[in-house]
Order: sequence, then structure tokens, then C-alpha cells
Amino acid sequence: MSNGNPAPTAPRTTSLPGGDAADGPRVQVLPARPVPLGGPRAMTVRRTLPQRDRTLIGAWCFVDHYGPDDVAATGGMDVAPHPHTGLQTASWLFSGEIEHRDSLGSHAFVRPGELNLMTAGWGISHSEVSTPQTTVLHGVQLWIALPEQDRHTARDFRHHVPDLVPLRGGRVRVFLGTLAGQTSPVPTCTPLLGAEVAVDPSASVTLTVDPGFEHGVLVDQGDVRVAETPVPRGELGYLAPGTRTLTLTNAGNVPARLLLLGGPPFGEEIVMWWNFIGRGHEDIVAAREEWERGAARFGTVHGYPGERLPAPALPHSSLKPRGNPAPRRAAPSR
Ligand code: MN
Repeated sequence: MSNGNPAPTAPRTTSLPGGDAADGPRVQVLPARPVPLGGPRAMTVRRTLPQRDRTLIGAWCFVDHYGPDDVAATGGMDVAPHPHTGLQTASWLFSGEIEHRDSLGSHAFVRPGELNLMTAGWGISHSEVSTPQTTVLHGVQLWIALPEQDRHTARDFRHHVPDLVPLRGGRVRVFLGTLAGQTSPVPTCTPLLGAEVAVDPSASVTLTVDPGFEHGVLVDQGDVRVAETPVPRGELGYLAPGTRTLTLTNAGNVPARLLLLGGPPFGEEIVMWWNFIGRGHEDIVAAREEWERGAARFGTVHGYPGERLPAPALPHSSLKPRGNPAPRRAAPSR
């Protein structure tokens, strides 16, 4: 879940993004910032979306990457019931297990290699707790912005286990959209791509991608080059629309793992605050007020042993929609 407002950090740009150049696609490296998730033993995540220079990649609007964390030291994940609006959450683990409960009545376990996609639509609430069996917690929490025509849709929850498919140089699990001949059966409201890609030591994987999509490559582990650009662990390599062929290289001698996210530019401005997405300040004020008074909009989570999370105070200033500025040249910092 979100906690507070983004603290802007400057991206490092090795070259100007803008699709395939004669020498291949150009990659903008978006750095991660550490964000404590809250609670007495706060688990810290690495957040790469949103940040100052990028609000969305396709409809992907939130990327938190965490672990591998020794749960004995961090306390693991324990997020009490909290609300969402206007978005979907995609939970994807590399290690560990999370118990999910929501106000649809879903009671599910998030496990490595399995997609759990929760649609908030008009409103949902859920809790997320790492299980007692979990010793190492490692994964991502992703949000997908719903387009105007779907943002008030009914709440929903989907579970899908994609096949692990061999590729030349590695393997892929396609959890949303289409890649490498694999198509996820999970429907999306806007075209999207979400896949985990493993790259063998000293090998490359070359993928044909949709040139109408912009893409982000989140590096989970390994010495990864996106096209020719090194992307450090935990950071996000951004590619503007126009890329048709994407080569992911593992320059190291241990396996590399990354997430490939994509979609056509979202084209709508959004307001993100706490766990809500709306289109203007009043959407957020209304959602917060309804959560605080326990309105039916968010339903009830059953089975969580504790109180639900109160919303934080609204800022004094009006929340402004965040557009998605065109990629621009940033001062190189390395
Ligand atoms: Mn949540």
C-alpha cells in the first residue's frame, strides 16, 4: 500500500528516450527511493513509480519492490484492512507467502509465480499479512490505474498461474498481456504487459514487443543491461513507445531476474493519494470521508485479527492531477 507522497528524485538518463534509434532503443534509468510501509516494525520498500518524472508506464502507476527480507528481522508484512478506489493491485512474489483477505470475501494466498489481481473499481478493502511459514519475503506490489470508463466498476479478484516458458537465453512467465507467444487469460481494462523474465548467466533474451507500448524493466537481481544500458538492481529502465525489439542481457555469472511492464501511454491525468486514485481533489475527499465513516462503498474485511487502518489527514492544499510529462533530457549524474 501507499504511504505518503512521493519524494521526488531525479532520474539518471544515459540518453534521451524516444524509441528505437539507429543503435537500438534508448533507456532512461528511473532510480528507486526507500519508503517505509508504516507500522511499528516498518518494512521498507523500493519505490520506482510514481516519481517526479514519471507517473505511469501504460496504466502501471505504482511499483514497490521489496526484499529479499529476513522476516525474523523485519517482522514481515502486516497491513491491516485499508481501502482502494480506481485501481487494480497486482501482487507478485519471488519468495514467501502472503495471506490476502478482501471485502468481496476473497481469502487467498499469494505465492511465488502466481498472479493475484484485485480490482478496486468503485471501492474495496483488503488486508495483507505474510504467513508464519514465510522466512524470506521478496516480491513486488504493482498498481494499475483504471481508465475513466472502468474506474467505477464492481470489485473483483482473480488468481492466475502462468506457465514457465523457456526462451533462448532464459525463461518467461507472462502474467498479463502477450509476450513470446504466451497470452495471459486475465482480462485488463487497457492493453497491458506484465511478465517475469529470467536471463541465464552471460546470456541475452531478445523479445519482440508492441511498438505502441511504453515499457519498464524492473531489475530484481543480476547484472542487467536493457538494450545496452546497465540498470542497477531495484531500478526501473524506461523505454518510450517505438521499441519493437528489446534485448535483455545478463552480464553476470549468476541468473538474472526482472519484470517487464508495458502498455500504451495512459492518456488520462490521475490524482493518487494514500490508497485512492481519482481524477480530482473531490474524488479523494469523498473516498476518504466514506472510508472514515465505514460506508458500504468499501465493504468489510472478515478474519483480520485487528483494527482497520485509519486514513491519514488530507494535505491543506488541493490535490492536483498528475500528468505524465513527455520523457525529457535530465542532467546526467553519472
Ligand atoms: Mn492495498
